[in-house]
Order: sequence, then structure tokens, then C-alpha cells
Amino acid sequence: MKPVCPRCQSSAVYVMTDSTNHQLIDELLSPAALIGLGVSLCKSFKVHPVIGVIAGTAIATVIELAKLHSALPMLVNKQHRCDDCTHIFSTIN
Ligand SMILES: [Zn+2]
Repeated sequence: MKPVCPRCQSSAVYVMTDSTNHQLIDELLSPAALIGLGVSLCKSFKVHPVIGVIAGTAIATVIELAKLHSALPMLVNKQHRCDDCTHIFSTIN
């Protein structure tokens, strides 16, 4: 079924290439970024940075597993863009 724009009911909508979106999420949730975040959190809470590395690695592992099982529903949502009013909306498949 072809989606219609929820704002103007136009059928002139097309699926946006969401690869850039995925890349951004991958970058934000990359093991290196998470470990870096863990270390900086430990520094601000005056905890040994090694704990941050361990916590970051653990979180990264959980996220990798979640991605493999497609347990992150936001990643499978399709983004559509209306050609008439440029409204962007997503549909759940
Ligand atoms: Zn529209």
C-alpha cells in the first residue's frame, strides 16, 4: 500500500534514503564513542577510568546484539517525504 501524506493527503510521497540516518546512529552508538563516554563520565564522578571502559564495552555489546536482532524499532521505520508540502513522516512496517 502506498502511503499518503498525513498533512496534505497527497500520494506524491517517496521513501527517503535512510542510510545517512543509520550511519549517524552507528556513529553515536559505536563502541569507541560509548567507551569514550564511559571514561569521561568516570572522570567527572572521580571513578577509575577502567570502570568506564568496562561499562562502555558492556553497553556497546548489548547494542550490537540488539541491532542484530532488530530490537531497535526506530531503525526499521521507513521515512517518507511528501513532494507537495515537504512534510517528513515515518511509517512502521
Ligand atoms: Zn504533503
